[in-house]
Amino acid sequence: MTGNYDVVIVGAGINGAGVAQAAAAAGHKVLLLEKKAIAAGTSRGSSKLIHGGLRYLETYEFHLVRESLLERALLCKLAPDLVQLKDFYIPVYHETRRGPLLLHAGLTLYYALSGFNRSARYRTVPRSDWGSLDGIKTDGLRAVFRYHDAQTDDRLLTEAVVNSARELGAEFVCPAQFVGANVGTGGTEVVYEAGGQQHTATTKVLVNAAGHWANEVLARVQPTIPIMPIELVQGSHIVVPGQLTKGFYYVESPRDGRAVFVMPWYDDILVGTTETRFHGDPDSVRPLATEIRYLCKVLSHYFPAYRDFKPADVTGTYVGVRVLPAGKGHVFQRSRDVIMRADRPASEGPPRVFTLYGGKLTTYRRIALQAMQRIGPALPQREPVADTARLPLRRP
Ligand SMILES: Cc1cc2nc3c(=O)[nH]c(=O)nc-3n(C[C@H](O)[C@H](O)[C@H](O)COP(=O)(O)OP(=O)(O)OC[C@H]3O[C@@H](n4cnc5c(N)ncnc54)[C@H](O)[C@@H]3O)c2cc1C
Repeated sequence: MTGNYDVVIVGAGINGAGVAQAAAAAGHKVLLLEKKAIAAGTSRGSSKLIHGGLRYLETYEFHLVRESLLERALLCKLAPDLVQLKDFYIPVYHETRRGPLLLHAGLTLYYALSGFNRSARYRTVPRSDWGSLDGIKTDGLRAVFRYHDAQTDDRLLTEAVVNSARELGAEFVCPAQFVGANVGTGGTEVVYEAGGQQHTATTKVLVNAAGHWANEVLARVQPTIPIMPIELVQGSHIVVPGQLTKGFYYVESPRDGRAVFVMPWYDDILVGTTETRFHGDPDSVRPLATEIRYLCKVLSHYFPAYRDFKPADVTGTYVGVRVLPAGKGHVFQRSRDVIMRADRPASEGPPRVFTLYGGKLTTYRRIALQAMQRIGPALPQREPVADTARLPLRRP
């Protein structure tokens, strides 16, 4: 099979799906390639939150919080079956590092960054209601804050975005493994394997949305292009039997003060996440025994009913991988914003290969629009057929 495209995308995670949707909406001829399944990577291994990212206030990423809150509001409208606002509770104990004053300040700023949207209001929960909070520990409890964020099913959301891209005319091939690309003057030749055969497609721009495999994809592009050094950080979750009927709990790990979520997930409870540097083959990432123990400890620390809960009682685990620019300092403090890299500086011409590293599930639509702006100069003029800010997303 051969074909000529404006945009060929490698990877049907949320970023690849978002770019496919945005490019098809802009009227372009699009091919999306996925080696395994939709959301086979981190886009099914996230914490499943469509959130402003309260914790990013600590790293002063106000623009990211604001953008995320706007996208959260939009996704609740476009995909009401897939993205729903929920009650989140932050218990503050005597030993909690982030005290009530800091939380008041942070939640007020969160509300302000939402443009004073009602959905971002918060309040403190009266002491008389603490007993109704899913059995959370009340010993040493000083205050409980309630605010709102949204939950999604990350895999289904990604599928919905791929379906939307296809309805707009994008072609999707899966399983289809990217084999290599040759960047030439008249376009880039992309070779991929599907159905036991090699195929070639020619494209104006190759978008590399391969998640933590991104640099592996770049290593197969000729002539060689500069590769950004990255660090991979795995984050695991555990699935635990039980039910939370009141809401989501945002707690601090007693060991290191990291924020950990304890959340309802279908008929179970989900606890996550961790941050562990990952080295090695990107296909071999797995939740580690130390991560599972760490999460069990957080759960048993805050929920007395789980006091004796052990790793052997965990019913499921999964892992996602963050792609961060290589650098010094603790990974918890590094920016979670997306990084976009063209194969050459703008002064030398428009991008021919364009790579997306990291980002958030929440902001996928904005990331896609930014990517389209950056690759726009390499693309032919086309008549837009839709606006992704108005396209409903249906639960598959
Ligand atoms: C632990 C964790 C929790 C998170 N929680 C949240 C959250 O709650 N909310 C939020 O907004 N964000 C969250 N994020 C961030 C968000 O989940 C990720 O930024 C996002 O899912 C990354 O999507 P992606 O499309 O870049 O990569 P991926 O989802 O990993 O997709 C890459 C795809 O490329 C495919 N691929 C790779 N190589 C090839 C090849 N050679 N040929 C063809 N296909 C290929 C893979 O199979 C895969 O499907 C979290 C991240 C982590 C790590």
